[in-house]
Amino acid sequence: MKLVLLGPPGAGKGTQAELLARRLRLAHVATGDLFRAEVKRATALGRQVAGFMRRGELIPDAVVVRLITQHLGRPAIRRAFALDGFPRTVAQARALDAALARQHAALDVVLDFQTPTDVILRRLTGRWICRACGAIYHAVTMRPKAPGRCDRCPGRLVQRVDDQRATVLRRLAVYRRQSAPVVRYYARQGLLRRVRGEWEAQRLYRALVRLFRTQGLLRDPA
Ligand code: AMP
Repeated sequence: MKLVLLGPPGAGKGTQAELLARRLRLAHVATGDLFRAEVKRATALGRQVAGFMRRGELIPDAVVVRLITQHLGRPAIRRAFALDGFPRTVAQARALDAALARQHAALDVVLDFQTPTDVILRRLTGRWICRACGAIYHAVTMRPKAPGRCDRCPGRLVQRVDDQRATVLRRLAVYRRQSAPVVRYYARQGLLRRVRGEWEAQRLYRALVRLFRTQGLLRDPA
């Protein structure tokens, strides 16, 4: 399956992409994670994008499209993937369509996570991630067993610099301005399915599995 998850930051895309990737054996491609890894390793690309990320602004399309087309060229990824955080502009969506067309492929479904702003603020300002493996926790709703420590690996939990309230509000404004047209772009193609991003993770996951089954995209037993 070739899947895109759209929605504002904090809508729950990352959590669902991870769950679906495991269940459906998809490659989970999160552009934010790919760029954060470049910044951490202080590569040339990392130095180029760090400022945009810190300010909560979008990285220029050409840079993002180059990275994603490299990834989609890999045999392990191109067969089946969940794109999380890409595309975020109509230009990126067009570039994705063109890259898939070159592989004689197309998207199967695009999920639009609709999530109220108060839910997003609560989630993001309480979010903690593992520095080592990227696992996501929450100060209120998904606490780790030991404070500040990942349950899955020996990594430490840190808060993302762009999860502070002022930056979150800027990221939301950027989303509304630049990414809302992407929702319309996929609606016109008939690929869009609206989902309730404010639902608790397991409830939403079960609803998504049901949706895929009714769409004929998932055939295995429950
Ligand atoms: P995310 O983890 O998806 O919230 O992404 C974190 C940051 O990475 C964003 O605020 C942008 O600065 C950058 N970024 C990630 N994906 C994209 C994209 N598709 N287009 C432009 N910038 C992106």
